[in-house]
Amino acid sequence: MSNKRFSLALHGGAGSAPGHDYGVEIAHMRGLVEAARDRLAAGASALDVAVETVVALEASGLYIAGKGASPNAAGAYELDACLMDGPTGRAGSIAALQGFESPILAARAVMEKTPHVMLAGEGAMAFARAQGLKEIADPANWFTQAGAFESNHPPELPTGTVGCVVRDAEGRLAAATSTAGVFGKMPGRVGDSPIIGAGAWADDHAAVSCTGQGEYFIRTAAAVQIAHRMRFGGESLESAAAAAIAGVAALGGDGGLIAVDRDGNVSMPFASDGVKRAALLPDGTVFSAAF
Ligand code: ASP
Repeated sequence: MSNKRFSLALHGGAGSAPGHDYGVEIAHMRGLVEAARDRLAAGASALDVAVETVVALEASGLYIAGKGASPNAAGAYELDACLMDGPTGRAGSIAALQGFESPILAARAVMEKTPHVMLAGEGAMAFARAQGLKEIADPANWFTQAGAFESNHPPELPTGTVGCVVRDAEGRLAAATSTAGVFGKMPGRVGDSPIIGAGAWADDHAAVSCTGQGEYFIRTAAAVQIAHRMRFGGESLESAAAAAIAGVAALGGDGGLIAVDRDGNVSMPFASDGVKRAALLPDGTVFSAAF
């Protein structure tokens, strides 16, 4: 049943390093939740709010996405992102994109300006350029490598990503995810973050954004699995999200996810040392945590 409540969750990546103080990231995420709340109260759509929030997460340089990205094993910055709009089932994705400030805006342009869902590599760059998306003038002085200290921290594939899921006042759901991928990845490696159904999903049951070792999220179709458990199995969001993360962990994977359902319930399970995350819960409370 639809109601006028709105809610949202965002994340700044799995693999929080034990003992590290994430006060700056938590304060930043809480500010974004409050800004998103104001936008939703004014009637903004779930899709717009999810994209705006991820743009802000990318631009902050605080997380391993956008300006905070870490390089691959060859020293290049290959970024991935995707988004999905629940009411229309439309989706857009960009993979191994180099040279642009906001991968999520490139993914949105793929959704809105092409007949395709995903563009990768050179073609993605040419498309982003043709769209007039903002290019990085000087990569050496742009990237903050926000998570550099985390790259020395287990697990084997240290991670970082950002994402946002939203249920707006009209009951529409949307999800967006953006990442630099795992630390030291092979050139050309693409993880779950730009894969619709793995790194993000939105339909009329749930919106999901994942973070962690993407190989495991791809192998379990983690994001769409949650919506399908709800649609075909009648599970609650909480139960479906917990099962998806349990499936990742059962394969030996590390990570977490954020999810919201059509009634505005929020779930943020993880099998990782932590996930930097914040949410506007259905009762209006702002929640935040790193562990
Ligand atoms: N899932 C991302 C990837 O595998 C990394 C992350 O979430 O931190 O590319």
